Amino acid sequence: MLELSFGATTILSMSTRNDSAEFQLNHALEIQGVKYRYQKSSELALSIDSLIVARQEQVVITGRSGCGKSTLLHLIAGLMEPNEGVITVAGSSMSRMSGSKRDQFRGRHIGMVFQTFHLLNGFTVLENVLAALMFSEFPRSEHRSRAMTLIENLGINTPNARIQDLSVGQQQRVAVARAIACSPSIVLADEPTAALDPEYTSVAMDLLQNACRSIDASLICVTHDLSIVDRFDRQVSLQVPSLQERA
Ligand code: ADP
Ligand code: MG
Repeated sequence: MLELSFGATTILSMSTRNDSAEFQLNHALEIQGVKYRYQKSSELALSIDSLIVARQEQVVITGRSGCGKSTLLHLIAGLMEPNEGVITVAGSSMSRMSGSKRDQFRGRHIGMVFQTFHLLNGFTVLENVLAALMFSEFPRSEHRSRAMTLIENLGINTPNARIQDLSVGQQQRVAVARAIACSPSIVLADEPTAALDPEYTSVAMDLLQNACRSIDASLICVTHDLSIVDRFDRQVSLQVPSLQERA
């Protein structure tokens, strides 16, 4: 096992498949020297010296509640800015972008699947996927057919059903369809199986991982569910910074 020290946070890289020079040139995500505090005076919520994810690589980030998993995903998605350090997705840093450019970049390059899905209630399956395509580089004339193909490929046969009328399992499929709609470079999943019945976990993970493979996207999935860890190329274990280290 490779042990790496990342300042206040220690990350253990349990295994890695990609350590070639080619990997260095082909990364989807690069994090260097990142620190984040929620308020100026508060403790460090996250500190990572270096984390690199290759294109198409599927990484699972584990760690107990409060260790900074969701914070990390929010930072990667450019929803919050690190206090220090640099995050690049597909070679670009969102810190240097204006708000609208950042939204556009996020829409095109980053897909997200949340624990509670965050779908648009009151709207249909099709409308939810079309909404994701608003930022895409696909011509508007192709949006509808692309959305319908995605919906069908993910095994949803009710494109006109409203979100609130779907089962949790079906909602998860819509969340995956929405996440990959723009063919992003990277998909971020925050506890994607936490709301599901345990017997559906394997099906849901197959769905998410195969969807990422189908568009050659990297997947970064955070979870406290150790039963899904073996499905990934690499596990990164995020430790809660000790109170002393965080101060
Ligand atoms: P995880 O997802 O691993 O459970 P989080 O990233 O949610 O952990 O939280 C990391 C740390 O940041 C925790 O100490 C948590 O209390 C703190 N934190 C999370 N969200 C906020 C917030 N909005 N304001 C202040 N502190 C927060
Ligand atoms: Mg969390």
